[in-house]
Amino acid sequence: MTPFTYNRAADVPDAVRLAASQAGARYLGGGTNLVDLMRERVERPPALVDVTGLSRGIEALADGSLLIGAAATNTAVASDRLVRERYPAVSRAILTGASGQIRNVATVGGNILQRTRCTYFYDQGSACNKREPGSGCDAVGGFNRNHAILGASPACVATHPSDLCVALVAFDAQVHLEGPNGSRQMALEALHRLPGEQPQIETELQPGELITAVALPPLALAARATYRKVRDRTSYAFALVSLAAAIDVGPDGVVRDVRLALGGVAARPWRARTAEQALRGRTADAAGFAAAAEAELAPARGLAHNGFKIELARRLITTTLSALAGGAVT
Ligand code: SF4
Repeated sequence: MTPFTYNRAADVPDAVRLAASQAGARYLGGGTNLVDLMRERVERPPALVDVTGLSRGIEALADGSLLIGAAATNTAVASDRLVRERYPAVSRAILTGASGQIRNVATVGGNILQRTRCTYFYDQGSACNKREPGSGCDAVGGFNRNHAILGASPACVATHPSDLCVALVAFDAQVHLEGPNGSRQMALEALHRLPGEQPQIETELQPGELITAVALPPLALAARATYRKVRDRTSYAFALVSLAAAIDVGPDGVVRDVRLALGGVAARPWRARTAEQALRGRTADAAGFAAAAEAELAPARGLAHNGFKIELARRLITTTLSALAGGAVT
């Protein structure tokens, strides 16, 4: 591991000041991904600013939204009464994502900013444009079973590994940011970038910006949502394909509202807006769900080993919506 300095921030302004004082400094949450990357020498930050003592609360705001501190642990969020009542898919997504030990230390901010688990990214002997821009991508012609089917580029076909982010994006979560130039908010859906020609730039964060909180707006149908995850083994594997889904069907059998986001398919949590648009105002039946899934996945492209994800995603959307519309939340 490359030597680095360590400072524990007293508050948010102190964290921003400490990070700005040394180029290349990184904020440290639970460290469940960053410390691994440092051990493997994939990341070599000269300074760490520990933000685990900041913004850990979860509170209901007067406008009906839920504000989750970025340093709240995954365990705290998954077990919170308000989260479980209002956004059960968020809780469920977290519980599918990691072991209890990891959930106890991993934070919301760290979960959002965790990096791909592409094995070539972690292997210093492999070509990887994300780790070393311009070096190539060994995943494109290599073993790519876990890689992206949507939004990828010839430069990078990696996926974002988070389960939590998929559920948050489905419900229009906003991230609160604090940086050297002040405060701002943005949709979580807009935070992660697709790879294009620069896969090493993964988010829209400005240098030194810190995620301080995530806000979930009030959304009645989220209380009847679910999160389903398909993976190679049932304990603590990353998603081949996952889905956060909620649907509101009127007494006339017509879809009044629907939220869908896919995980394991792209470099960011993939809000399935094409499918949502196809479903609103249409009869809630299996044929309509299948057609909406087909429309969403029309631009999907498989590589040598991951083409099965396209059909898997189609079936996951169709069966999950059928179950939800039939009153079964599983
Ligand atoms: Fe690197 Fe992306 Fe290629 Fe993986 S898919 S080797 S992360 S460039």
